[in-house]
Amino acid sequence: MKKPKGKLAVIVGAGRTGTHSLKILCVLKGISLRVIDRDFIRESDIGGCALYCKNSVGRLKAGEAKRIAGKKFGVEVQAECEHLRAGNARKLLGGASIVLDCTDNWGTRALINQYCLKNGIPWVYCGALAGGAMCATTVPPGRPCFECWAPALPTEPVSCSEVGVELKAIKMASEMQVEETKRILAGETPELTGKLRYFESRTARTRTLLLKRNPQCPTCAKRQFERLEGGGENAILSCGGGEWLFLNPQGKKVRHYGTKRMLEALEPLLPHAYGSLLKLSVNGLECAVFRNLRVTVRARERNRAAEANAIILSKLGASEKRKL
Ligand SMILES: [Zn+2]
Repeated sequence: MKKPKGKLAVIVGAGRTGTHSLKILCVLKGISLRVIDRDFIRESDIGGCALYCKNSVGRLKAGEAKRIAGKKFGVEVQAECEHLRAGNARKLLGGASIVLDCTDNWGTRALINQYCLKNGIPWVYCGALAGGAMCATTVPPGRPCFECWAPALPTEPVSCSEVGVELKAIKMASEMQVEETKRILAGETPELTGKLRYFESRTARTRTLLLKRNPQCPTCAKRQFERLEGGGENAILSCGGGEWLFLNPQGKKVRHYGTKRMLEALEPLLPHAYGSLLKLSVNGLECAVFRNLRVTVRARERNRAAEANAIILSKLGASEKRKL
């Protein structure tokens, strides 16, 4: 296989599959790597993710992945600690020779699909759930795209937080994804365009399904890229439905607050520093506040989560007036 030179592989998501794919790519010479993730590392991430260790808990995933890749492999990885959305897709995915999807939600995958279709960039989907691993490649134009065969957000998503995910399945998903990536970067024909490969750990068998192109697909047939145009939702439900993320674009004003200032502003809510973010409880709900005012709230119902987010914002807003 030829060595790809000057190519940029962008990995979206630095969780389970993202860290395993990154780890394998770190030993490939001649490609640049960028990793995107807005989230922080929890204790529960340590077993399933590659790279991270106990000291990583509380740190931002992308930044920690960059740090460890540099330390262990001597590889310089660009880290983007942001949530990929319409407004920053060009900045975060720009320059990519290939995009590796290691996310856990349909919305971000659809956004990657539309960005890549519009800009003629190949991308590789992968997923792991329970003992199953999946992988499919979209190479524009003329082949089935992600929205041809996964046309809508599942109404009752089965998620990794409910059924768990086996390490074997995570590793297999990443291996299939990196194999496709290597082929594409070397200018070879990928195996999984128009195909979905499924591996089941229980039987150790792999099946490959043929995917059909939808002639009415809004993205690849009609070239409507509405996900790239919309401002996107401010509140996003994470995989598993147990946590809401609020992007809070109005929080730009407090972007440069240090941890100490945020601790003071949120003092009535008894916050504590947790790595690079703050953790606190609002109305009995577990919340995390990031430096640029993204807030995550563990709650089933959106209204309760939104209320907690509003309380946090009001505390920081009041502090802002006092010019902390
Ligand atoms: Zn399509």
